[in-house]
Amino acid sequence: MSNQEIIDKLLKGEMKLYQVDKEVSAKEATDIRREFLEQKYDIELSNISNYTLDMKRASARNIENSIGVLQLPMGIAGPLKVNGQYCQREVFVPLATSEGALVASINRGASTITSSGGANARVISDIMTRAPAIKCDDAGDALKIRQWFIDNFSELKELAESTTSHGKLIKIDPILIVGNYVYPRFVYSTGDSMGMNMVTIASEKILDKLASETTATHLALSGNVCVDKKPAAINIVEGRGKSVVADILIPKDIVAKKLKTTAEAIVEVNIAKNLIGSAASGSMAYNAHYANMVAAIFLATGQDAAHVVEGSLGITTAENRNGDLYFSVNLPDLPVATVGGGTSLEVAHEGLEILGVAGSGKAREFAEIVACTVLAGELSLIGALAAGHLARAHQELGRG
Ligand code: NAP
Repeated sequence: MSNQEIIDKLLKGEMKLYQVDKEVSAKEATDIRREFLEQKYDIELSNISNYTLDMKRASARNIENSIGVLQLPMGIAGPLKVNGQYCQREVFVPLATSEGALVASINRGASTITSSGGANARVISDIMTRAPAIKCDDAGDALKIRQWFIDNFSELKELAESTTSHGKLIKIDPILIVGNYVYPRFVYSTGDSMGMNMVTIASEKILDKLASETTATHLALSGNVCVDKKPAAINIVEGRGKSVVADILIPKDIVAKKLKTTAEAIVEVNIAKNLIGSAASGSMAYNAHYANMVAAIFLATGQDAAHVVEGSLGITTAENRNGDLYFSVNLPDLPVATVGGGTSLEVAHEGLEILGVAGSGKAREFAEIVACTVLAGELSLIGALAAGHLARAHQELGRG
């Protein structure tokens, strides 16, 4: 069949989009599906058709029904000095975004941090979770199933770990019961991968054993107690992905010179906005805009973009220490990877290479860099708001 014959079949609805891959190579299938859209809607898709990515590889792992590649502008912020446990150096951070002023703002924060000697960063927990929904006869039966998980932990751990060379089942906790439903939260360590595929495969093994030894039925591999790609209190309290903290003490003169404000004004804005405002609105994220930094780094380094919703969670604190500013960001739920998933895409790999964190043994180092970048962006925005507030106060005083 010629390419046009395939397009004609698509236009007539005689062929499914995915069937094109069976007729031609991944690259050609991509072109055909795009040309089908061009002809159907009489439009020209001359930009998404321009790319260097290996579509054969991407089609095998990352995308179905491919039609091309999305381009986003990418900038860098830095140098950003990171004083972590795993990362102790200056970095330039790649950021992909269409939001003008974001990179400039993060850059200002990075400059403030680096001038102050760098930001501290620590990974305080490193896990990935899966929690299936299991149905029992009644609450009494549900309690027995919970006990089954507790009693069989060693064997379940062995089974789960037989599916992976990097994944480890650390614990099953909590095991929630709601009426006749049971939700065991399987908690794994997943090395340098984000781990969702890994823990899904491992958890299936556990559920096979459950099915063979009990009368309980598992209704869904994910029962929303994991909690994947949704904002959730359990992730904030128990952690998910990397839980990371970054903090810094910024001397008074640098607060004045770089942020054009004072520690006092920053503390006041942080309390009014990030703490009280967030509490008043029932927000789960007590911060100004973690999602901005997390999204821009995630896009530049091939992380799962839907996890930005988890990375947006966390609390910003600020203290006035005799004019110096103590400032911290706390990210309890940051799923990041330096291997697997989208990190193998060529552009993502280059983003990770800019940071020096591509490949095995680098995920915690990367998490520390993300946290320090969030610190830079948060500091810059709260600083700008505080500077505006100071400017207004000066204006009013001047007029008085
Ligand atoms: P993956 O690419 O499926 O798995 C990571 C692979 O890397 C494993 O096969 C692992 O081998 C190998 N590996 C090599 N070196 C490693 C190292 N140093 N540390 C850890 N693993 C290493 O990726 P994943 O992280 O498990 O899952 C990410 C993908 O899941 C993303 O594409 C995401 O979009 C998708 N996702 C899936 C679900 C789901 O429910 N299935 C949900 C959300 C997202 P071994 O296993 O042999 O150790």
